[in-house]
Amino acid sequence: MTGNDGLDREKLMEIDTALLELLDSRAAVTGPVEKRVDNAEYYSRLLAEYEGAYDTAFIQALLEGLTDASSKQADAEEPPPLLVSRAHQSADTIVRIGEAEIGGDEPAHIFGPCSVESYSQVAEVASDLKRKGLKMIRGGAFKPRTSPYDFQGLGKEGLEILLEIKKAHGLAVVSEIVAPEHVNLAEAHLDAFQIGARNMQNFELLKAVGRSSKPVILKRGMSATIEEFLYAAEYILAEGNGNVVFCERGIRTYEKSTRNTLDISAVPLLKQASHLPVLVDVTHSTGRKEIMADCAKAALAAGADGIMAEVHPDPATALSDRAQQMSLEEFDKFHLSII
Ligand code: PEP
Ligand code: MN
Repeated sequence: MTGNDGLDREKLMEIDTALLELLDSRAAVTGPVEKRVDNAEYYSRLLAEYEGAYDTAFIQALLEGLTDASSKQADAEEPPPLLVSRAHQSADTIVRIGEAEIGGDEPAHIFGPCSVESYSQVAEVASDLKRKGLKMIRGGAFKPRTSPYDFQGLGKEGLEILLEIKKAHGLAVVSEIVAPEHVNLAEAHLDAFQIGARNMQNFELLKAVGRSSKPVILKRGMSATIEEFLYAAEYILAEGNGNVVFCERGIRTYEKSTRNTLDISAVPLLKQASHLPVLVDVTHSTGRKEIMADCAKAALAAGADGIMAEVHPDPATALSDRAQQMSLEEFDKFHLSII
């Protein structure tokens, strides 16, 4: 049917419908890879023989517009999988800390005092760990305390003590850092950085450890979802450091009978979503020594790659987390029941 303007709308509709169908088949071919073809060469080949009704510059602009639209749409529809995800890497990552392997066939545990208080205090625990055949020790030099008036850790001196312990006892040493400017200093003293629950979303700190090649034990924020936990690890991987270990350490709930609520479901969920290893801290999650062994067994049964727990030669005099650190005697029993 020809309109007032002299156009045959029916015919036009038929042609434009066919054009839309052609565009769809074109999109099915190009998809997200179109950006990467050598377009200049392609257009000159395509338009070399063209003698149609339109200017070649217009045709080229039209096709470039289609390219942009289809690649933008592809980007919006399909973000690349996260580096932490199983979709990116299906095989389990094994993180090596000194001689220990976290994420391999055998569980790898990290025990040690809450805070580094003195050489002899850490050395006493180190000798015990060594006797038990363990390969790593932990101890806080920078302590993120709730009250500014509580013991804040020995700082650099604490790191120096840990380095001495490493040399004397042959154990790999792990300690928390709380600021990006600690990375250089700690790199020279430690075998792995710990990022504490309070800093799980300290993105500048995550990026700073991401630029290092030292392994990172990343603890779950006390109010962090699994998704946020995965994204926090992604910050580290995105900077180039793939040696990240998740550590579930309990989350805040209404329950008061434990210090935090140990989220056992986090273990299989993290293992399913990510190729990175998973540890479970039974000290800060439960805060109760009498249930730590049972919770550790549950964590291992759920697929955890190892346990973290605090041990102190004389918990009653500890400068932090006095009530929840195991004595060497308590630790003996605990250790026997989880191996
Ligand atoms: C710790 O492991 O010493 C610690 C402070 O734990 P969190 O960051 O899980 O509270
Ligand atoms: Mn502690």
